[in-house]
Amino acid sequence: MRLDVVSLTPEALAPLQGLGVIGRAFAAGRAELHVHNPRDFATDRYRKVDDEPYGGGAGMVLKPEPVFAAYESIPTQPRRRTLLMSPQGQPLRQQDLRRWATDYDQLVFLCGHYEGFDERIRSLADEEVSIGDFVLTGGELPAMTIINGVVRLLPGTVGTEACLEEESHSALLLEHPHYTRPADFRGMTVPEVLRSGDHGAIARWRADQQQQRTEERRPDLYARWQEQQQQQ
Ligand code: SAH
Repeated sequence: MRLDVVSLTPEALAPLQGLGVIGRAFAAGRAELHVHNPRDFATDRYRKVDDEPYGGGAGMVLKPEPVFAAYESIPTQPRRRTLLMSPQGQPLRQQDLRRWATDYDQLVFLCGHYEGFDERIRSLADEEVSIGDFVLTGGELPAMTIINGVVRLLPGTVGTEACLEEESHSALLLEHPHYTRPADFRGMTVPEVLRSGDHGAIARWRADQQQQRTEERRPDLYARWQEQQQQQ
């Protein structure tokens, strides 16, 4: 998987390489990261990448020319998707990460800065993505969030396929609780059933826990799960 990030602060992406299993996926060549700085493509004397908004108002706006030039310098692979980081985008979901990991071999991330970007930059994107209903100062953390989530789905990055199947959000329900030794830690004990060796009972307990947890913590997901069950 080739990952290209268009960013005014390329150094912000450096921690990805040292991020445990994600870092190892880069070291092993399962994923490669390329960062492109629009400032390197600015043509005027001051390497200007932002400007005042037409019509006035607070903040600076990312100019289209250097962003287009940086974008157009990126080599193209056959199955490529361009994602624009924006609090106005569609909220990110696990199913998006799965889709990008499976259907594409190149993802391009456009990171905004300042007050935002010139509206015409939107025309470069196949999708606009938000990582939540809050506002950050730049698109780098959102891009790194997506890169982390996509790279961990690439074959060979984490454990087995089963780990990925069972976890929260892959099928609407949140994951059940986990315990490891000791059986009693400061008076907090591991549920008896998990120590029983009865695999049927353990599976039922886990399924119950998943439903209970989801209903308590995320009634919105639980409602979608119930709807899905009724359709089956
Ligand atoms: N004024 C803009 C926000 C600019 S924030 C507005 O109201 O839409 C600066 C940049 O940070 C954005 O261009 C985007 O790339 C990134 N960003 C901030 N919050 C984000 C979020 N929740 N999801 C994805 N990108 C975000």
